[in-house]
Amino acid sequence: MQLYCDRCNEAADHPIPITDDPELAEIAKDLGYRNVCPGCYDDLVVEAGEAREHQADDRRSEHRVAAQISLRVFPAGGGEAHETVTEDVSENGAQIRADAAFSAGDVVRLESADGAADAVAIVEVIWRDGDALRAGLRLVETSESWQQLVREQETPPEQS
Ligand SMILES: [Zn+2]
Repeated sequence: MQLYCDRCNEAADHPIPITDDPELAEIAKDLGYRNVCPGCYDDLVVEAGEAREHQADDRRSEHRVAAQISLRVFPAGGGEAHETVTEDVSENGAQIRADAAFSAGDVVRLESADGAADAVAIVEVIWRDGDALRAGLRLVETSESWQQLVREQETPPEQS
């Protein structure tokens, strides 16, 4: 019986079963592959490695730190700065105390009260938390000064 690679559908003389492969079992299940040719096997090993790295990156950047940081929030289209405080921060976003001035979809510029960090973010979501309004912000692009700010919250200042 001729076997075919589940990935490229080419005839495979020596298909490699991957459903029990410790590296590939997960990807095999996700994609529904059982046997693949040696070429596809190698590709999948690379893909699985990349996927794992990606997940690790996501976890890192989603890591939230509870921190009350005073911020000025400027509407990107101009207008008065709004002073508020974060509830938590991560390297690619923040949760802040909001009010009716904020709406989902707004693009805003964030600046820490001391001016050391700034970032451009989009208001992703607004929700009510008891009597208060909260806004979830996601950075539009990576900001080194923002990342620095988040790291400072994570590591207590060293005693010297
Ligand atoms: Zn193949």
